[in-house]
Amino acid sequence: MEKRKGHIPQPIRSDGAGWWDLGPRDVMRDMENPDLLVPPETDAGTLPNLKFSFSDTHMQLNHGGWSRQVTVRQLPIATTLAGVNMALTPGGVRELHWHQQAEWAIMLVGRARITSVDQNGRNFIADVGVGDLWFFPPGIPHSIQGLEQGCEFLLVFDDGSFSDLNTLSISDWFAHTPKDVLSANFGVPVSAFAHIPKQQVYIFQGSIPGPLETQKVPAPLGPVPLSFSHRLLAQEPLVFPGGTVRIVDSTNFPISTTVAAALVEIKPGGLREMHWHPIADEWQYYITGTARMTVFSGDGTARTFDYRAGDVGYVPRALGHYIQNTGNQSVWFLEMFRSDRFEEVSLNQWMALTPHQLVQQKFKCRTRINERIEKGKMGRSEISGLFILPKNE
Ligand code: MN
Ligand code: MN
Repeated sequence: MEKRKGHIPQPIRSDGAGWWDLGPRDVMRDMENPDLLVPPETDAGTLPNLKFSFSDTHMQLNHGGWSRQVTVRQLPIATTLAGVNMALTPGGVRELHWHQQAEWAIMLVGRARITSVDQNGRNFIADVGVGDLWFFPPGIPHSIQGLEQGCEFLLVFDDGSFSDLNTLSISDWFAHTPKDVLSANFGVPVSAFAHIPKQQVYIFQGSIPGPLETQKVPAPLGPVPLSFSHRLLAQEPLVFPGGTVRIVDSTNFPISTTVAAALVEIKPGGLREMHWHPIADEWQYYITGTARMTVFSGDGTARTFDYRAGDVGYVPRALGHYIQNTGNQSVWFLEMFRSDRFEEVSLNQWMALTPHQLVQQKFKCRTRINERIEKGKMGRSEISGLFILPKNE
């Protein structure tokens, strides 16, 4: 049957394999997943699902904001990290709380005020804007409040089974403590607790706080010694022919000892080079654009997934992968790792630094790559890692 180029994609490859999808179908989903509908011929075998969209998650709506999460419950392969997408209204508060997991975050829209106190009675109060990160170590209490424009951000926790609805919160603890104990603990009459909430508040509408200077609380022991926030966009990016990268881990954001990240831009036509990460699974969050990623897991198995803004992707440790920009705008996405440092192995770099005769023997026919090796053109860029390649004209 003739393959037509129409608005409705069909599961028919250019070589004629496949047939029309005549039955019940979700055309919108098929259009978002062209590489599931018509996989590249090089795809084969079975891999776990490596994609989940925040748009397919439950929205927790509150007066003051909303949240939704992608955890191991939604994406079972993602055991190392979990993500929460949250928005707060102007003045909206994610109440004072803590949890067993560390919290890494990036502001996506707007501004917020974040507060914390560490185990030595030193405090942290700061305003964060777009591209700013924060990190709250495990067990350290904190809060987040939207400023004038409100805000939206991504939280990443170093445990795939985390749930933001199962944290330890101040209102929940009050509600489950006898009032005479609260009275003794705070040295005020029992009547002071007559109207406290009967359960966890989670997110609530507050009033927009005054300027930061007016809200500072001087701590006798001073502020936290290592800042809990980091200005990622102020960091000079690594610039490659096909895009940019900003890497942040414990080497430049010292408090972040369990989460490492790279904020990657792939320009139209660009390719995030073939590589893998030796020490940690990769949890991805797509911010803009459309991309496809193919993951190779050995034994003849490879699978391709399509991603767009709001999608989470995942790559198990050490599996080979690459990411292509499939659209006409830049793809911005985060690569996240449960690790104190960012580490990857570049296929180009490996080949360039291996005896050339040995590498050439792999390719039975004469290839462009052999010519590049013979002419000594596996050059400086391969040796330092290419990271993002430009459009191949
Ligand atoms: Mn938290
Ligand atoms: Mn990667």
